Formats: sequence, C-alpha cells, structure tokens
Amino acid sequence: MTVTVLDDLAVPPLAVERFEPFLSAAQYADLLDAAALARLILHDRVLWCVNSTARGGGVAEMLGSLLGYARGSGVDARWVTIDCPAEFLAVTKRLHHRLHGFPGDGGPLGEAERAIYEEVSAENVAGLVDRVRPGDVVLLHDPQTAGLVPELKARGAAVIWRLHIGADVPNDHVVGARDFLMPYVRHAHACVFSRAQFIWPEIDADRCRVVAPSIDALSPKNQPMEPATVTAILQSTGLLGDGLPVDSAFLRRDRSPGRVERRAWLIEDAPTPPDVPLVAQVSRWDDLKDPMGVVSGFVGALHDLGDAHLIVAGPDVAAVTDDPEGARVLREVTELWQGLSPEQRSRVHLATLPMDDPEENAAIVNALQRRADVVVQKSRAEGFGLTVAEAMWKSRAVLATRVGGIQDQIVDGLSGVLLDDPDDLETFGRKLSLLIYDGGYRARLGAAARERVRDQFLESRHLQDWVALLREVAPAG
Ligand code: UDP
Repeated sequence: MTVTVLDDLAVPPLAVERFEPFLSAAQYADLLDAAALARLILHDRVLWCVNSTARGGGVAEMLGSLLGYARGSGVDARWVTIDCPAEFLAVTKRLHHRLHGFPGDGGPLGEAERAIYEEVSAENVAGLVDRVRPGDVVLLHDPQTAGLVPELKARGAAVIWRLHIGADVPNDHVVGARDFLMPYVRHAHACVFSRAQFIWPEIDADRCRVVAPSIDALSPKNQPMEPATVTAILQSTGLLGDGLPVDSAFLRRDRSPGRVERRAWLIEDAPTPPDVPLVAQVSRWDDLKDPMGVVSGFVGALHDLGDAHLIVAGPDVAAVTDDPEGARVLREVTELWQGLSPEQRSRVHLATLPMDDPEENAAIVNALQRRADVVVQKSRAEGFGLTVAEAMWKSRAVLATRVGGIQDQIVDGLSGVLLDDPDDLETFGRKLSLLIYDGGYRARLGAAARERVRDQFLESRHLQDWVALLREVAPAG
C-alpha cells in the first residue's frame, strides 16, 4: 500500500493563455502576472497536491485543471493520490457527512477509528515524506489527508490544508468531526475553506483563508459543444433514444480529438425521447445529493410538468473508489423507481455513466447538462456544488437548494432558482413546473447565470487566489 504520483498523462500542462477569450484585458493581465509570480515563488520547489482519488467528485475535477495550469505556467506541480483501504474510507466518509452536519452511518469517531485513521495516514505519509523536500509546498485536500499534516510540516514543507465541505449551521456532528481532525490540522501553515461561513473557529483566524472553487471553461466538461454534437453524444451513450449518432466528438484536455463511444447503464422502461423537455441532475450517488428527493419531487408534480422527462445521472458506482456508499444509494433509488406507477416510471430515467475514460465521462456530462432544459441540484448540503457552476456556465436554468456554496453561486430569481427547504417537495415541484413552462424565464436566468460564473467562478480567479496564498505561506526566497 502506498501513495500514487499521477503521471504526466493524467495531468497534461495547460496554457493560461487559453483564458484570453473569456477575460477582460485587465483580468487577463492580472492572470499573466499571477502566473509569473507563481514561477518566481516556486522556481526551486515542488508543489504537491494530495487527495484521495483521481476521478469522481468535485475535488478530482478541479485538481486536474488547476495542476494542469500550474504546470503550463512553468511550475513543477505534482498530483498525488493516497491509498484508502475500506475501513479508512468508512471513517473518512463518516467525517465527511458530519462536517456537513449529518450523522452519516451513525457510527462512532472514537479511539478505534482514530487508530485506523492514524495507521493509514502513517503509511501514506511514509510513501511521500522522502520525496518532499524542505521548502516544497504541499496542498492537502479534505479529511482523508489531514493526518499527513504534522509529518510533512516536520519535514520542512509549507503545508496547506484545504477543506471543500462545511455546514451552514454547525451542530454537534460538525463539532465532533472537527475535534477528531484538529490534532492534525492545527499544525497546518494555512487552512483554506470554500466560504467564510465554513471557517473553523477552533483554528487561529490568521491562518484561515477563503478560496471559492471554480470550473475550467475549456475542459471536456465545460467546453463549447454544438447542439448536433450534444444530441450525438447523448444518443451514442443511450441517454437519448432514436436517431443514428453522427458525430460524438469532443476535444481532450491536451486538445487532441476524442470520441464518446461507451454506453451508459440505464434503468428505464424506454429511452428518453429526443425532443421532450428534460430535467436532469448529475451527481455522485450520495444521500446528501438527495436523488430520492429529486425523483419523488418530480413524480409528485408530474401532471404539472407537461411531457417532461427526468434523468438522474451519476458515475458508475464501481469507479469512484473513495465513495463507499454509492452502490447502496443507487440501489435505493432503483427500488424507489421500481415502485413507481407505470406512467411515472416511463418519465424517469436513472443512468450510471461510464468512468473508464474520465474525459469521455466529462463530455457526456457536458452534453447532458447542455441538453437539459432545467438542471436540478437538490442537495441537502454542499461544499460548493461544481455541478451548479457547470450548468450555469452553459446558460442553463438551475433549480437548486439554498445550501452551502450553492447560495453563493445563484442569486435567487436572477441567475437561477433556490429552494429553501430540501424536504419541501411541493415547492420543488411548483418551481420546476414554472421553469418548464416559461422558456423566456429560463433564458433570462441562463444568460445571467453564465455572466455570474464568468465574473466569479472561472479557474483564472481561482489560480490567482492560490498564488496570493502561496505568496504569504511560502514567500519567494
Ligand atoms: N461528475 C462527473 N460524472 C458523474 C457525476 C458527477 O463528472 O457521473 C462530476 C460533476 O460534473 C462535478 C463533480 O463530479 O464536476 C461533482 O462536484 P460537486 O462539487 O458538484 O460535488 P461533490 O461530488 O464534490 O460533492
């Protein structure tokens, strides 16, 4: 068991010059300055980025791009994934739920869990510590990596711990998870949170920073796509019925051509007709994403939704190695679907998307988000919710719960629609119906959504935030 340093293929260098078409002249000049400063700060150091998985979920999604742009700027940035045995993941998944304010599986976070956590952390740090040199910068992501902080700091590295999750209103679950992690994270040179409300009062305020996540406008997930390609990709994967797929092409991160060839695994009575109004949620299979609520809310409002169909899509559960609960959640949603009336069932489709080629998966998600008339993100808790920014960037009308970072992205009624109470399925259905029937409203929301992402949630802003932090934590010698 040891850590994995991803090879160059997994993290191709990306040129920051690619942002030029999206930014104002002043924004673009600031970005080039930040890239130059990063080169200066890190010219004789390695930037290590450590997390638990290279695919599935928002963190992996962001790291591929951020590290690519760092490398493209001339920084020696390396992506490391730690090894996570099942018993360790059970503990960190518990921590994940608790930090969001939920009980998760309800299990303890006591001495036995700490022993597992520390044993695995020690094995992982042993695989890394000799490669990290004094002065290097290490960015550790989320609860899975917190146990690595003390030893890497002792090694002489500048250690930043970045947490992507948090609770709007901290409760006992949150406090319990923080207590568990504090012995490790208290040693970090800086701790980074996705929103000010997520900052831990237990950590000295002068070591806490806020950096909002972002999307890469040019990745296979978000790159522009012609409507004909959208249809071709969705038909070739089986997500839409009818027609002969013509050209399911997309551009890979390294700009070489790719083609969507694999099929999704679908739980449905018949394929989604190509021309119906479409509602979609794309998320990991996780209770906090509330796929059950999406299905229940949709079928509850079925007679007010015209002939709309719903696709709830998520990754192939076998592929997301740091998510032990995915298979159970998918099974429960499937059972819910099986229990629907034939009419309801015919309008709801569950899809697991192939993950063998992450860029192909991204192109499928891109196409699905673009084809959806309404993108839903009915989460019960959310660190940020990249799926929301992704859909907003595609000028989609998004209906999402007012939780976590979603409320930083959507201004209710202007750049999307917020649902206050995740359990209020009646209001969910009513808001969905309004959106389905009012194309003008959808278009206005979508246009404002794209501008909001352009202003605040593109990778260019994110890169500059990181460089500003590096300047403080690891000043140029
Ligand atoms: N995602 C994906 N394929 C899937 C399901 C999700 O690529 O089948 C991506 C999604 O597009 C987004 C990320 O996983 O980029 C999820 O990030 P988010 O912040 O929404 O939630 P998280 O999974 O981190 O809780």
